[in-house]
Amino acid sequence: MSFTLAIVGRPNVGKSTLFNRLVGRKLALVDDQPGVTRDLREGDAKLFDLRFTVIDTAGLEEITDDSLQGRMRRLTERAVDMADVCLFLIDGRVGVTPSDEVFAEILRKKSARVLLGVNKAEGKAGDSGALEAYSLGLGEPIRLSAEHGEGMDDLYDALRPFE
Ligand code: GDP
Ligand code: MG
Repeated sequence: MSFTLAIVGRPNVGKSTLFNRLVGRKLALVDDQPGVTRDLREGDAKLFDLRFTVIDTAGLEEITDDSLQGRMRRLTERAVDMADVCLFLIDGRVGVTPSDEVFAEILRKKSARVLLGVNKAEGKAGDSGALEAYSLGLGEPIRLSAEHGEGMDDLYDALRPFE
């Protein structure tokens, strides 16, 4: 039995970088540029001996404007509906932002099964972000570096029960 994981969270936290690492091909664009429109992307993921389907919730790189926020919300809700479990990513260097709280609320309302990932936490960079992340009430944060491949063993342990 396999499962589907949706990577969700506000723009720029590293969702596509993690998606690319799990899928092993450059299927999702990684972009530093705000304002790029994208959609949901699905790929076959491999993490050590785990095989599963992964969804990257792309969409819009800026959610300051109300209509864009609505679109991001709808994309996230669609991804949650498709998934058995969600990985909610925040940026460990930035900490918990108001827009992270919005995503946490969406996940709570949907009663989604959620793993909380604190990305960009390579070295000591994510220490304070990881502490802040407890305030989201979504359980113990998993410290990750999608870019440098750190924390993949902890992610594996968290995903193993869904297989
Ligand atoms: P998305 O909008 O959530 O899909 O985020 P992206 O995957 O496009 O990444 C946004 C930016 O964060 C890019 O510049 C990435 O290179 C950078 N990034 C992603 N993961 C990491 C990480 O683990 N550490 C650091 N330092 N930067 C990262
Ligand atoms: Mg992306």
